[in-house]
Amino acid sequence: MRLAEYVAAALVLCGIALSAPLAAGHAQAPNDVGLDPGHSDADVGAVGAGLREVDLTLALAQRLQPMLEAYGLRVALTREDNRPLTAMSHRDPTERIRLEQEARIAAVTPARIYVSIHFNGHPNPGVRGTETYYNPDNFGAESRRLAEALQAGILAELRGIGYEPLDRGVSDDRTAGKPYGHFFSLRGPQPSVLVEALFLSNPREAALLREPGTLDALARGYAAGITRYLAEDDAPAEHTGRAPGAGIR
Ligand SMILES: [Zn+2]
Repeated sequence: MRLAEYVAAALVLCGIALSAPLAAGHAQAPNDVGLDPGHSDADVGAVGAGLREVDLTLALAQRLQPMLEAYGLRVALTREDNRPLTAMSHRDPTERIRLEQEARIAAVTPARIYVSIHFNGHPNPGVRGTETYYNPDNFGAESRRLAEALQAGILAELRGIGYEPLDRGVSDDRTAGKPYGHFFSLRGPQPSVLVEALFLSNPREAALLREPGTLDALARGYAAGITRYLAEDDAPAEHTGRAPGAGIR
């Protein structure tokens, strides 16, 4: 084994994602990660404590993108400002959502994974916690593994800033109760997840989001989950046989 291969294998074993192992072998996909900052000015999402979901999702994506690029990953955002990608003028609200979500997926596809960034809202201000959705009928096993990696990474970083999050777990997106079934954002041609990191409608979690370090912590959590998933995804093809006995999996 050449030294570079040994070092790469050792770093992967330590859970450190190198740019080469993460990106190699997938040259056909222009993007490694499609990041979707949820909502737009036409649909601002949850609000609370003077914060709007539409602004927070973009701010988080803009922190996360350079973190992932530092690993050598190619990252594309579905939006760089608050404008929707489509006219959002269809009379049928479901069609409006479908067209906008399909345009967002198309804007970053092909990509190895698609991560839709959201914050939660609930009529009961006491409801709080962290949850991640995946579509079991669309790259089900991979999407679930990506969801679990993101959920774990975000919970760990929230604990790291002194907040005890409520783990609401990883869920089948149909449990969200949308009349159209699976989220339109989770129907693209790659493993896909939708993360709801905190509730804007919960005073404690909204106050936490007003603190300057919270979005950075969440971005680190997303980055940890995404790099872990991609490193595991690469491991069999990139390293099996090259590092006998190394026990990459
Ligand atoms: Zn949302």
